[in-house]
Amino acid sequence: MSIDWCPFAIKRPIIADNFTTGRGAHQVTAVVLHIAAGSLAGVYATFNQPGRKASAHFCVGKDGTIEQYVSVNDTAYANGLSWQNNQWLNPRGRVVQPTWQNLIPKTNPNLYTVSVEHEGFPQDVWTTEMYDANNRLLLWLADQFNLTYAPRRTLIGHCEIDPLDKANCPGPNVNYDRIAEDIAALAAARQLTWMPINTDAALYQFAQAHNLGYPQTDEFEFAVAGKTYVGQVFNLGIVYVEKGNWDQVAWTKKPVGM
Ligand SMILES: [Zn+2]
Repeated sequence: MSIDWCPFAIKRPIIADNFTTGRGAHQVTAVVLHIAAGSLAGVYATFNQPGRKASAHFCVGKDGTIEQYVSVNDTAYANGLSWQNNQWLNPRGRVVQPTWQNLIPKTNPNLYTVSVEHEGFPQDVWTTEMYDANNRLLLWLADQFNLTYAPRRTLIGHCEIDPLDKANCPGPNVNYDRIAEDIAALAAARQLTWMPINTDAALYQFAQAHNLGYPQTDEFEFAVAGKTYVGQVFNLGIVYVEKGNWDQVAWTKKPVGM
């Protein structure tokens, strides 16, 4: 069971009319992207209307704000289908032929998806802030539900569930391949120990002033005649200083082969 509410989203719970508690024992298998066709401010108002029977778990604003309306462990009403007389019907009662490859036969996709709205209109190009916030949210969701994003499988648009009335949701500018690649890169990079780069540090500033390139190690300590020094390797040299004597920075060339 994952955390109900994303810690970096603004929590705006909606009235019980517009979602179902729990997921009927289903596991989340995919994230569905939507476009709100309106402003971030309008989304909460819509989802909080009595009897509206519409909601999504999240909406990402153009400024990178993330709002959450429904716990990820509850069922939002963003991309529902019903199975009747051996065919899929969309919420307007029209027969649809979903293209989503991981659709579970006869089972409403709302039960096993997380839905993410985005502020704006289908033809909009997402702002950088929106794009980055969406990635951050999708990475968090991947952690909660153990998802690996694959376009058309575990990362889809509403259009793949309802190609009839939602063909333009989220719109033509959403690049699912790129989003999946970005998040895979973020997830892999986060496993590594990152070398901290302190651009305020005396050694870094000295190296930049002397065109010694970028740091190749973190700072390290060594001793000479009972005095402690701090050093750091840069592309072209090893920069060092006696601790406390910060204005006496020196450097020596890296030996050939190091
Ligand atoms: Zn949609």
